[in-house]
This record gives sequence, C-alpha cells and structure tokens, in this order.
Amino acid sequence: MIIKPRIKGFLCTTAHPEGCARDVQNQIAHVRSQGLRDDGPRRVLVIGASGGYGLASRISATFGFGASTIGVFFERPSVKNRTASPGWYKTAAFTRAAHDAGFYAENINGDAFSKQIKDATCDLIERDLGQVDLVVYSLAAPARQLPDGSVVRSALKPIGEPFEGKTIDFNTAELRPVSLEPASDEEVSDTVRVMGGEDWELWIEALSARGLLAPGCVTTNYTYLGSRVTWPIYHHGTIGRAKEDLDRACKALAAPMAGVDGKAYVVVMKGLVTQAASAIPGMSIYLSLLFKAMKEAGTHEGCIEQTTRFYNTQLYGKGDLRLDDGGRIRMDELELADEIQQYVADNWSSVSEENLDTLTDFAGYRKAFLEMHGFDVEGTDYDAEVEPVVEIELASGSAG
Ligand code: NAD
Repeated sequence: MIIKPRIKGFLCTTAHPEGCARDVQNQIAHVRSQGLRDDGPRRVLVIGASGGYGLASRISATFGFGASTIGVFFERPSVKNRTASPGWYKTAAFTRAAHDAGFYAENINGDAFSKQIKDATCDLIERDLGQVDLVVYSLAAPARQLPDGSVVRSALKPIGEPFEGKTIDFNTAELRPVSLEPASDEEVSDTVRVMGGEDWELWIEALSARGLLAPGCVTTNYTYLGSRVTWPIYHHGTIGRAKEDLDRACKALAAPMAGVDGKAYVVVMKGLVTQAASAIPGMSIYLSLLFKAMKEAGTHEGCIEQTTRFYNTQLYGKGDLRLDDGGRIRMDELELADEIQQYVADNWSSVSEENLDTLTDFAGYRKAFLEMHGFDVEGTDYDAEVEPVVEIELASGSAG
C-alpha cells in the first residue's frame, strides 16, 4: 500500500509506519547523544505512553537511564485498508528498539480510565517489575467512561465570554475565523472529570493499595500555562480549569506519596504540536509564531528535548528544582522568555495569509504535524509500497 497524508480539519486520518519508526529512531538518537546514566529510575510506568510527551518520557527513561518501562495507551491497529494510528506504529518501533537494546518494555492497549486496565497494569508490574520508581501520567483524552458506564466529554471552550480567534487551514494555508460560545457549567465540570486530576489519583491509589510504589517513587503529570494571547481559550478556558484540578490532585497525592517517601509533581511543559494540542482552537497561529521566535533564538525544543532535559536537569538533576509559587516544576521557561513572548505579542494581530511564511513558522508547524503522523520524515520513501499491518505484542488484559 502507498500511504499519503489525508488531512481533514485538524486531523490526519492516515499514518506512515516507516516514517513513524524513523521519527522514533530520531528521538532515541537524541537521548543517546546525551549519554546513559545509571542514577535515575529503573522501573517506569507511563500512562499515555504512545503520544507526544508520554512517548518521549518513555524513550528518555529507557535510553537515558536504561529503565524498564510499561506503557499504557489507547491506539488503533491497522484494519482492512485503514492504517494504524501513529501511536500504534511509534509504540511498535519503540518496543523493537528497546528489546533490541536489551531493555524490558511491555505494552497495555486499552482505556486507562477503566478499572480493568488499572488492574491489568498492576498485575503486570507485580509479576515483572515488583514495584515502580516513576509513574508518568501523560493522558490526553477527548472523553472518559465513568465507573457507572456513562461517558463524559471534554470541551475546548472559553468560560464566561465568547472566544473570537483565527486558525490556519492545513490544506490551503488559509486563515479561518473561529468563534466559540462560552462553555456551560456542565461542560466545565465534564472537562475537569476527563482532563483533571481525578484519574491520576485513582491510578496512584490502585498502585499504592497493591504496594507497587517503590521507596522514593515519584509521579508526574504534565500541564500547560502558555502565553497570555492563548489564555482566553486555554488557561482561562475549560481545559485550564481541568489543569487547575491537577494542582489540587497533586496536593492530595502528597500524603500517599509521602507514605513511600516519594513525591507528586505537576510539570509545566512547552507548547508543541501533538495530537492533543492540534485540536485546540487558535493554537496553530500561536505555535507558528512561537516556533519562528524560538528557532531564531536557538531555543526551540520538541517533546524529546523537553523530557530529556526535564529528567537530566530537574527530576534527576544535581541542583535545586525550578519550582514556581504553586510548587510546579517549570520546563516552559524558554517559551515564556520575555523576548520570545514580545515577538508573539507584537505580531499576534498582524498574522495574515500573505505574511504566514515570513512572520510565522507555519512551514515548521505543518512539518511537525505531518511528522507526528510519520510523514515528511527525512529518509522515508513515500512513493514506495509499505505494509500497513504492524504487530505489537500486547500484555494480557489489553482491551485491543
Ligand atoms: P497526545 O495526544 O500526543 O498523547 C495522548 C496519550 O494519551 C496517547 O498515548 C494516547 O494513546 C493516550 N490516551 C488517550 N486516551 C486514552 C485512554 N482512554 N486510555 C489510555 N490512553 C489514552 O498528547 P500530549 O500533547 O502528549 O499530552 C500529554 C499531556 O501533556 C497532557 O496532559 C497535555 O495537556 C500535556 N501538555 C501538552 C502540551 C502540548 O503542547 N502538547 C504542553 C504542555 C502539557
């Protein structure tokens, strides 16, 4: 099968297995270039392990510290003439590379919100690893099935006032107006239930009840604050409210984590193109401006640079943690540097179809979006036939 990108709105409905594998190899090469350390986590659980930040966290832990990892994710294999999801291909490539290098890597595919997947993961940890030293919660989900079977959905909406903004059409590079009515109270609380901290707490509770948190265990959850220009839709919107709930959950987790002499942290990461981020209205313009400013300043990073630097300089670094007033670890200091945010603010209202390629790095944004699906990855022949069916050995208890 010859696989080309098929883009609809902010979604790409195809993925390229070889391009995805190459992308993973590039990430591994970055981690290896930073050296292998033996003073970090040995056994790591990543929840949401197949996408942007979760996959990068898993790669950094494996190839930076030689850690054994269990990855939990919700991905789709190839069926009939449909390609698998990018996270499926990337996990397959990661697992092959980890095994080839002699590292333990097991995968659980299914709904991380469910008790079934939590139990299956706990069984696997108990059987193979004994305990875990690090639990990375990096889920980004559009919906959550609650224990009573009902489903709540997250909404990406402003709160209190309508949002008027612009977004870039991937296919045509046209600017389109976006207007959104404020979220209802129910939409706000549903978004908090999906993307807030409740499920993180349930995971830690499940692991703790089975005695699976090792002495000194650390758990992290990623958040985003971003620039003032995106606050109306992000920080002050429904998703921002969910992120606020992570801060609450983090404080609530202090006690169970202290029970094993461990800690819970919310970590503020940089804005990047991932599956989750590309769904946020208006983010394409902000990230295109941001990439332009950060690349010119030589400070641009992708997910793998962020997670590797996070481990090496913060979580397993030698110095003090870079904590803010809320106790969060900050990895977004380069994004929020004055000169970078000044460039964004100065040009925010002037972006047009005519100056998209000069004022912004839309080309870089577009490339990152395509690369996320395994397209536009250097060294891949996109005119060649490729086998879309790629197997992943899944641990028992996986739903798919
Ligand atoms: P992503 O879409 O790339 O990855 C999401 C992961 O969650 C995937 O592994 C997916 O399989 C998994 N997942 C989704 N629903 C699931 C379910 N029901 N069960 C099991 N797994 C499921 O997302 P991302 O951008 O890497 O986001 C991860 C975290 O990082 C989120 O909390 C996000 O808010 C945060 N973050 C993202 C950015 C950014 O710019 N992308 C910046 C800062 C923080």
